[in-house]
Amino acid sequence: MSFSESEKSNYVTARKTIKAKILELKREEEELLRREYESFQRYLRGEKSAMVYSATKQAAERFLRRLNGKLKEGEYPLMLRNDTYRIEIEQSPYLLKIPVYGVWGGIRVPIRTHEPITGDMGLKEAKVIRRGNEWFIHICVEKKVEKRIPKNVLAIDMGIRWVATTVNSSNPVPKFYGRELRRVRGRFFYLRRSLAMKRAYGAIKKIGDRERRMVNDILHKISRRIVDEALETDAMIAMGNLKGIRDGDRGKRFNRKLNGFPYRKLSKLIEYKARWLGIKVIKVNEKNTSKLCHKCGNRGTRKGSLFKCQSCNYSCNADYNGAMNIMKRAIRYMWMAGAELTQPITR
Ligand SMILES: [Zn+2]
Repeated sequence: MSFSESEKSNYVTARKTIKAKILELKREEEELLRREYESFQRYLRGEKSAMVYSATKQAAERFLRRLNGKLKEGEYPLMLRNDTYRIEIEQSPYLLKIPVYGVWGGIRVPIRTHEPITGDMGLKEAKVIRRGNEWFIHICVEKKVEKRIPKNVLAIDMGIRWVATTVNSSNPVPKFYGRELRRVRGRFFYLRRSLAMKRAYGAIKKIGDRERRMVNDILHKISRRIVDEALETDAMIAMGNLKGIRDGDRGKRFNRKLNGFPYRKLSKLIEYKARWLGIKVIKVNEKNTSKLCHKCGNRGTRKGSLFKCQSCNYSCNADYNGAMNIMKRAIRYMWMAGAELTQPITR
């Protein structure tokens, strides 16, 4: 299928990862799974005679080629090719069949997923992960979804004070996301610093993992709320292209602050959640979206969280101004592409 044909099609293929915990392994199954997992680690490190299921070896080879020989320390998830494992979803809990070396039919274990697997999903590659004494599996699934035709635009500006500020062309009131994120990051920042003074480096790593999990959890919730709003308001989603974040001209200190912020993660989460529902997502050039006045288009000044335009005397919240500029660019782009959007409501 050529690109233009796939553009015209009313369907897109959406992918996501469904996470699951492997429940109550019997001793014998646990041993087999551990053996397969540990052999897989040795195989990756070059022990080609390690006893690993043959199709899993092939997955390992592909993975090694992709890594280009640059293996990190620590363990890698055991990769399962999509045609080698199976999940029976007719019962609760689901039953997962994992192929292992030398055991015909592999092992069958019950799993609990954090969301249902449905018959319209296709199973792609899966990864078995060991964390302490617990086993998890991440299953990549895909589905054909019908594209929604947008009537409105929900624009997102990502910033330091608010990780996301959104405006919706059907509703002029902005929404600000990220209060909890700021609190968590602030708390961990001080915690880390006091541990560093005590030279408690092991503890620092541990709380680093905890912080990452809490931050991810918050980002999931924020992306969910944004995508839900897009769904309810028949909106497409527009974001900045994040180009200025790494190679901006705003100074090293500012860049360091920005790079520590999970913008890429958040935009990825929004993108895949939206795609899964058939919601269109576009990235617009965000150059100067924080510097230009969204009312008159002239350059203004920013002081703290206040944006001020000297040309037309307009002033407003700076993140709101950025989001409005992203929305305007998205609407212009969509109109040029022939979309029939509803006239935006502004205040
Ligand atoms: Zn102005």
